[in-house]
Amino acid sequence: MTRTTPPRPADVAAVFPRLGPLARTATRLHPRPGSPSRQDSSVGGPLLWPSAEPWPHCDGTHWAPDVLPATSPADVRLLREIRSAATSRPPEDRFYTPDERAVVERINAGHPCPAGPVALLPVAQLYVREVPGLRPPGGADLLQVLWCPFDHPGETMPRTELFWRSAAAVGGVLTTPPEPAAMQHRGYLPEPCLLSPEQITEYPLTVELEPDLCEEIEAWSVRQKAGALPGSAYEGMEEMYYDRELAVSPGWKVGGWAPWSFTDPTTQHCRVCDSPMEPMLTIASREHKTGIGSWTPLEDQAAAASSPDAVPPDPTTPTQVTIGDAYNQQIYACPASPEHPHTALVQ
Ligand SMILES: [Zn+2]
Ligand SMILES: [Zn+2]
Repeated sequence: MTRTTPPRPADVAAVFPRLGPLARTATRLHPRPGSPSRQDSSVGGPLLWPSAEPWPHCDGTHWAPDVLPATSPADVRLLREIRSAATSRPPEDRFYTPDERAVVERINAGHPCPAGPVALLPVAQLYVREVPGLRPPGGADLLQVLWCPFDHPGETMPRTELFWRSAAAVGGVLTTPPEPAAMQHRGYLPEPCLLSPEQITEYPLTVELEPDLCEEIEAWSVRQKAGALPGSAYEGMEEMYYDRELAVSPGWKVGGWAPWSFTDPTTQHCRVCDSPMEPMLTIASREHKTGIGSWTPLEDQAAAASSPDAVPPDPTTPTQVTIGDAYNQQIYACPASPEHPHTALVQ
């Protein structure tokens, strides 16, 4: 099923011509739960991985594994099944059954955390033919993103590894990749999702603009949202209209601008050639925010309106990935060479 971002509520490049040269194309991925194959672009799906190539493992130091009881991918899947079964029942039957409660209590009690290297988990597989905006190295047409499902000292997001390859050159495929025996955060196991890539236009958030242009845009935003209803998403926040609805799209995407939130914009420089790096892949905890509807795809608007109280599976979190306190993890790549090492920011 395709996903279509509604027409923008205003043509900001016409209202503010200085924004025109700053337009960037982003590809919204629109992940939705499904059963992707190795031949599909996916989030959390099986990877087209050569059987002749070792599966990547992390042998880094893992931060405070006793802060949260470790769990396992199998237990996370089981927990999600139980929650989904419970919430699909009539409201009066949504309490866990005794059998469900016993399983949930066993999972919540934790899981032994074995020493040694940890198998990485698939995060995303993106075929260049389906996801415009990727810049592969010569001969490559497939990007695979994996991560370690533990936090590392001083880091507040999972550590990713990126692999570019030619799908035609894979040959024999690894059919049963190893899984980590334990993992730290349930939100680090992406639910298998199919993608519906869609290209849109983004503009930088006001924090990235010249102060005078930022002021003009905020004043304009206040005028657009004048009379925001008490309790609405814009009450007392009218100046946020451009940032929220016209600048940077929410959710998983390739390219575009950065969704800066709690940190000031800082340019990331390539460790090899010092080039300013550019957003490559945004891994999002939420596809959209409640009360801010202009980015919600037309195909999802009825469902979003009919389930105001988010119960699992929450339509705003189709991948069930959570980075920190529902933030975004944005991977940056070097525009000079896709083979230079990537970096990442929590935003
Ligand atoms: Zn690790
Ligand atoms: Zn570089």
